[in-house]
Amino acid sequence: MCGTDEYGTATETKALEENCTPKQICDKYHVIHREVYKWFDISFDHFGRTSTPQQTEVCQAIFKKLWENNWLSENTMQQPYCETCKKFLADRLVEGSCPTPGCNYDSARGDQCEKCGKLLNPTELKDPRCKVCRNTPCIRDTDHLFLELPLLKDELEAYVNDLSVAGGWSQNAIHTTYAWLREGLKPRCITRDLKWGVPVPHEKYKDKVFYVWFDAPIGYVSITSCYTTEWEKWWKNPENVELYQFMGKDNVPFHTVIFPSTLLGTRENWTLMKTISVTEYLNYEAGKFSKSKGIGVFGNDAKETNIPVEVWRYYLLTNRPEVSDTLFSWVDLQAKLNSELLNNLGNFVNRVLSFIAKDPASGYGSIIPNPEGAESHPLTKALGEKVGNYVEQYIEAMEKVKLKQGLKIAMSISGEGNGYLQESQFWRLYKEDKPSCSIVMSTASGLVYLLACLLEPFIPSFSREVLKQLNFPPETQLSLSDERGDIEKSKRPWHILPAGHKIGIPTPLFKELKDEEVEFYREKFAGSQADRNLKAETEARKITDQLNKAKISDANKKKERATKSSEAKAKGSASVEAEISISRLDIRVGLITRAQKHPDADSLYVEEIDVGEAQPRTVVSGLVKYIPLEEMQNRKVCVLCNLKPASMRGIKSQAMVLAASNSDHTKVELVEPPKDAAIGERVTFPGFDGKADDVLNPKKKVWETLQVDLHTNKELVACYKDLPLTTSVGVCKVASISEGSIR
Ligand SMILES: [Zn+2]
Ligand SMILES: [Zn+2]
Repeated sequence: MCGTDEYGTATETKALEENCTPKQICDKYHVIHREVYKWFDISFDHFGRTSTPQQTEVCQAIFKKLWENNWLSENTMQQPYCETCKKFLADRLVEGSCPTPGCNYDSARGDQCEKCGKLLNPTELKDPRCKVCRNTPCIRDTDHLFLELPLLKDELEAYVNDLSVAGGWSQNAIHTTYAWLREGLKPRCITRDLKWGVPVPHEKYKDKVFYVWFDAPIGYVSITSCYTTEWEKWWKNPENVELYQFMGKDNVPFHTVIFPSTLLGTRENWTLMKTISVTEYLNYEAGKFSKSKGIGVFGNDAKETNIPVEVWRYYLLTNRPEVSDTLFSWVDLQAKLNSELLNNLGNFVNRVLSFIAKDPASGYGSIIPNPEGAESHPLTKALGEKVGNYVEQYIEAMEKVKLKQGLKIAMSISGEGNGYLQESQFWRLYKEDKPSCSIVMSTASGLVYLLACLLEPFIPSFSREVLKQLNFPPETQLSLSDERGDIEKSKRPWHILPAGHKIGIPTPLFKELKDEEVEFYREKFAGSQADRNLKAETEARKITDQLNKAKISDANKKKERATKSSEAKAKGSASVEAEISISRLDIRVGLITRAQKHPDADSLYVEEIDVGEAQPRTVVSGLVKYIPLEEMQNRKVCVLCNLKPASMRGIKSQAMVLAASNSDHTKVELVEPPKDAAIGERVTFPGFDGKADDVLNPKKKVWETLQVDLHTNKELVACYKDLPLTTSVGVCKVASISEGSIR
């Protein structure tokens, strides 16, 4: 159950800004939110809204009970009134300096200071201003209703003491709640001088509405009542229903103090929240996500990248700020995708399924083999034990809403799977010991299915794809249940899939995210949304200019291409299918004759590099963060000269400079040829003398395949596997990064 919380000043303010009615605003944003959740693969039994007749009904009924039971008091408040706008100003419509000592934020809102998080009353602000007309408001008396929280304190405290333990509340929720209780509860105003809200069903207050934080949590109930007329089966049935809630830390007191007090005060048998799972903040690159300031990547932005939803979900969940603030960074997203999803999970699943899918002469013709003898196969038995333990831990973590831990455990099983494949040397068993190979493949395919189950809550689109590749119908139930003995089953993964089952067609599950793409997104989402819009306009104009220029030069190029393609045909297709040998790379000694910053990208250099040709090549490299400009000048480097030229932020890069980076990618150094190496000389690998391709076909992933084995060794020598990059006068080295990767 979820929905959009629509009443209150925030909406009225936004409607004022966009020059429409609050209802129109809510209609618009409800659809936007719903679509974003849908894209993120977040499913609800019902995703509703609070501006419904059901909300009015439930909210007013609760109010009447509180009134009858004498938990409400009346009081006169002083509220800012704007003489110019002729109305009481809602808390958010007043801005001023924060009264908290040491904070002094000058644009604190009347309800809360965004900087220090303190909840405020508008009258506490220093130098208050009307947000609409900027005039100083005056203060007028207005009568309001208050929920007498102090009278409900003992009951509330008993609830918090019990449930925070029984429900395993997250530490941050416990901490905030007890801080409120310690500070002493005060009567809390539940009405407002507004139009957009649930009207107060009382003669004296009929022109007022309920304060949004009184009515918002009641939305959970009313949204359920929109879904089913039998909503009380859930909401008034505490013996049989467990209520779990998820939120960011700024919403805790409304759910652990105010909402339960409201429900307790009705004296009805409400289902109170059992477990609350609260997240800290996710910060963006260098600063803080801020919806109001438009800083960061938001739901609708994510949709517009070509990063698939399972990658977003995986990254956000591994990075879920469960105990402390965490940081969103594009480089980290790239690292997690490339190393965890692609190299660990995707690789495991694909390796297993592709092998089974091979024809019967070299694989299993897509049929899951018979695991006979698995019980007495030591490696497989040991794996089963480990997996069984992991699944138990996984269930325990998930029961306690330790989502990050659950995800990590599931990924460990994938890691175990890779280790198992490696250790079993199944490709040898296939030739030398077929029955054991069958055990390994049957077991591994069982793990593939198990992973689809365990990861389904985290990356459901991945699980659906795996089901498809395993040739199971999409409606296959993936959730584990101890009652069906799923933990026991997971100890014998070779029994998970039936022998003889025919799998579908395996395809790779994840795609690598390239440095250029990361750079592109970092640039794209830098600054605020307003800045971005401005930048997009400028870029659009630039692109039009470039296109106009390109049209002229394109006509010339077409002639060239016609000659080249006839040459290629003459050579025949045999060379295209050549095996991926390191000799296909055209690496040369180059001299950087000039380096400068890229005019349109902060992290890129543009270099002119002499590689022994008539003209120097223009090369774009993402090294600004790692190597000072002056160190780039006049330097000998190793240059990969036969990548397909690619445009980087508007400049065509005609080669790539090889550099090594350490494991967390915080340090990058150039791969350097010996000082006396001749410019233009080819860099080779002992024993590989083949001719390099003219241009590496990007579709065949030649570079990507070879790059995996390029690294620096303990002696700082750049190597492919254990073969050094060699020139006529010696090997190529780096300054200090040992055992780094080269790209
Ligand atoms: Zn403040
Ligand atoms: Zn005003």
